[in-house]
Amino acid sequence: MVHIVGAGPGDPELITVKGQRYLKEADVVIYAGSLVNPQLLDCCRSDAKILNSAHMTLPEVVAAVEEAEQTGKMTVRLHTGDPAIYGAIQEQMDAFEKRGIAYDVVPGVSSFLATAAALKQEYTLPGISQTVIITRQEGRTPVPEREKLRSLAAHQATMCIFLSITMLEDVVKELIAGGYEETTPIAIVQKASWPDQKIVRATLSTICEAIEGKGIDRTAMIVVSRCLGSDYELSRLYAPEFSHMFRKASK
Ligand code: SAH
Repeated sequence: MVHIVGAGPGDPELITVKGQRYLKEADVVIYAGSLVNPQLLDCCRSDAKILNSAHMTLPEVVAAVEEAEQTGKMTVRLHTGDPAIYGAIQEQMDAFEKRGIAYDVVPGVSSFLATAAALKQEYTLPGISQTVIITRQEGRTPVPEREKLRSLAAHQATMCIFLSITMLEDVVKELIAGGYEETTPIAIVQKASWPDQKIVRATLSTICEAIEGKGIDRTAMIVVSRCLGSDYELSRLYAPEFSHMFRKASK
């Protein structure tokens, strides 16, 4: 059996209890070495076979899993954050499916949520934005025309932009062209939840200058939102005059 496990954003304590249990039990661990914190592997058995998928192709990953399956071994495929977000797991699951290899998926804390925690920020403030858009600037992976940053910007929702820090100038241009004011707050968090986490806050017009010389060039989340430092309405959920299923209004 293969368990596809979300490793979380970096802090080894941010893996789920279930994910860690599978890691402790695994005969074979294939981890995404470019982003997964290697400290997570400290809990693995000393005789576990550990492979870094950063140096492997998809057929090599599948072959390693197949080999383990033939001898009745359990494999953990460890992906950064949550495996469903830019994890390239669909092609692996399809390959397992084709070969009759049983697998399941254990979710993880995605980096866009670790970023919110680092910023001490709620993404969904009443009266400001009730929507979070997870997206990326086009790189080697194409982005469908209808999902270009410029079109998504029209919603003025909170946007978490993955995989795009090296294209920050283009990101900013697209967002402004799409309708965001130049004064819209933006935050960049590099390596959220890692000991060397960095945070830079600015506005769309000042961010490119603000990150200059900060060494922020990879593993960074771009968050654009009027939620970042704005006046918002209090939530109805905790309003004294508001009744709901579990609480009667006090006034
Ligand atoms: N599945 C992962 C995302 C993989 S794509 C998840 O759910 O988080 C890799 C991108 O994720 C990076 O380019 C960066 O934009 C973001 N990322 C991953 N870890 C991060 C972290 N600790 N802090 C900020 N961004 C991170």
